[in-house]
Amino acid sequence: MGKPLRVLVVEDSQEDAELLIQELRRSGYEPTYERVETAEALSAALDRQGWDIAFGDYSMPHFNGVAALKRLKERGLDIPFIFVSGTIGEDMAVEAMMNGASDYVIKGNLKRLLPAVDRELREAAVRRERKQSDEALQESEERLRMAINAAQMYTWDWDVRTGRLIRNGHYQEVYGSDLPVSESTYDFFLQTVHPEDRRKVEQAVDLALQQNIPYRVDFRIVRSSGDIRWLETQGQAYRDGDGRVVRMIGVTQDITERKRAEEMIQQMAYYDPLTELPNRNHLYDRLLNGIRTDEGRGQSFALLLMDLDRFKEINDTLGHHRGDLLLQQVGARLKSVLFKPDLVARLGGDEFAILLQKLAKVEDVHVVIQKIQKALEPPFIIEGLPIYVEASIGVALYPDHGGNPDSLMQRADVALYAAKETGRGFLFYHADHDRHSPRRLALIGELRHAIDHGQLRLHFQPKIDLNARRVVGAEALVRWQHPEYGSVPPDQFIGPAERTGLIKSLTQWVLEAALLQCRAWRRSGINLRVSINLSVRNLHEPRLVERVAEALQKAGVGADRLMLEITESAIMADPNLAMEVLTRLNAMGVGLSIDDFGTGYSSLAYLKRLPVDEIKIDKSFVIGMATDLNDAVIVRSTIDLAHNLGLKVIAEGVENEALYEKLSALDCDEAQGYYMSRPLPPPELTRWFSESPWGMKKG
Ligand code: C2E
Ligand code: MG
Ligand code: MG
Repeated sequence: MGKPLRVLVVEDSQEDAELLIQELRRSGYEPTYERVETAEALSAALDRQGWDIAFGDYSMPHFNGVAALKRLKERGLDIPFIFVSGTIGEDMAVEAMMNGASDYVIKGNLKRLLPAVDRELREAAVRRERKQSDEALQESEERLRMAINAAQMYTWDWDVRTGRLIRNGHYQEVYGSDLPVSESTYDFFLQTVHPEDRRKVEQAVDLALQQNIPYRVDFRIVRSSGDIRWLETQGQAYRDGDGRVVRMIGVTQDITERKRAEEMIQQMAYYDPLTELPNRNHLYDRLLNGIRTDEGRGQSFALLLMDLDRFKEINDTLGHHRGDLLLQQVGARLKSVLFKPDLVARLGGDEFAILLQKLAKVEDVHVVIQKIQKALEPPFIIEGLPIYVEASIGVALYPDHGGNPDSLMQRADVALYAAKETGRGFLFYHADHDRHSPRRLALIGELRHAIDHGQLRLHFQPKIDLNARRVVGAEALVRWQHPEYGSVPPDQFIGPAERTGLIKSLTQWVLEAALLQCRAWRRSGINLRVSINLSVRNLHEPRLVERVAEALQKAGVGADRLMLEITESAIMADPNLAMEVLTRLNAMGVGLSIDDFGTGYSSLAYLKRLPVDEIKIDKSFVIGMATDLNDAVIVRSTIDLAHNLGLKVIAEGVENEALYEKLSALDCDEAQGYYMSRPLPPPELTRWFSESPWGMKKG
């Protein structure tokens, strides 16, 4: 089987054509051919594409090979063309070749035919392949050109020795129509760079000239119209044989749109949309930066937290829209009185923060606060209405009051809270504030960690049987041993724990810890009933009763050694639910106590039905009993009422001997209070057991 070959023969003699074809067939081809002898026939044949090779008689009566070859070339066809002639001399051969013939053979001697055909077909195939890849390249170049077009990109070539800078591509679009020439100089280019970015560009280029690494730099240019564009340039230096830099070649792209998008994202993440001031994230970053760059260099700064007095009132009476306008104006005034490196941020609501950087002395903070207060003095005109605003400010100093953004924020907040409480316009943070003001921030976020990482502690406060004058139980009261703030009292985190649902794990921890302590005491001969406090959220847990049972079993403590305190208000929040849960707990044999009794408006009829053992009179009545007749009446009637219902009564908040004796006289059953003991860590309470008159002797 030969190789198929489509052959076009430009020949007036059929016989000569046949001879050619036979020769090809002999050589292993399987040719199909068409013979033409006029220009028209040739054209028609060329319309039918797919010819592998063409032969042309050099001289014919009406047509000739040279004309045929010309036709082929005109049509842009790359078909190998071999002249065949009876009488070809050297001159003719040269002429034929010059006219684009591939080769020539002599009719009487076809020896050279086969090698010529083979070679021509081979070369044609190579040419075809190259053409295809050229086309592909062209196409990708075209695509790149289009990409460059879209990207507003140009390439450049800088002759370092002469300073000549040649640009190609879309430099005109980048620079604006006022820069028509592609040839320029490096110095001229530098002049177009925004003055603030010039050094940056020069440094990048210098580095690239010194070292053999490519560089990338983004910078702004100022067009002659004044427009500013962002460009990004990448370039690399090229050296001669001696290692001297001769050229720098690179590509420059207009990245203005990208920069704008980035700025917008930045704006959204770091600015408050209402006032356009930096937001909390922004402030946090700046605090962090300030602390990092300080690195022990003793650079101090001040964080001021400010909020507007009575803003909620203003918002409620004038409407949110006017409230927003007010916040905007307050922000603007704050900004107007501060120096540029200082930061004014809005943290949310009516809370603003001011960061005073590079503080020389603390007195400077006073000066700034005065400026702020003065700036807020004139009324704000909101839609024609004059509104007077006062603000409270809390100040925390770095590094004196905190070494990280969180603690600084925390402490400025504590100071702010104290400033508000005391009605002082501003306060610097002081540890004393901390003890009295709830930490509204941060603690909530740390609570989960505190529970999981053993930062909770239990203190126990003894319960005294007034008749026997002996300790009969102890109430477990939770404390948070915070690594930074020390012992945090429960009223600062129980509320947040309830709101966040963390109360479930907190109670679980307290329950287990209290029962383990109970068992430890029992082993050392101290037999006590321990009380733990349940919160209203605990009553909603479907598995509460099971969890209590499991904990008792795990600790090996009998149910009668555990008492659960539930506040009266927690019970009244959902009386039906309380009834159901308390009934199940009671059935288990656990003691139940109504805590803070007197504060929760329960009815006698309702209390009668509850399966509780004990009523705990709230300390406010107990403490007030000494001075307030009303309180004294409440305490007495509560004791009588409870006894009538068959319940025990315990008084909390017994702070002195007089109260103790009075309660005893009123036939109160038990007492708990500072007079006998404050809540204590277990080891100290153990000592108390052996030392105090109410303690129990071992045995
Ligand atoms: P509570 O259950 O009514 O606890 C009694 C509170 O009164 C305790 O405050 C105790 O230290 C304080 N106290 C005791 N004796 C006197 C006194 O003679 N005078 C005065 N003025 N106060 C006295 P503490 O420990 O700060 O606990 C406050 C509240 O936090 C508790 O009130 C309780 O409602 C809650 N709490 C404490 N621990 C837990 C707990 O583990 N779980 C839950 N859910 N709540 C807890
Ligand atoms: Mg209690
Ligand atoms: Mg209480």
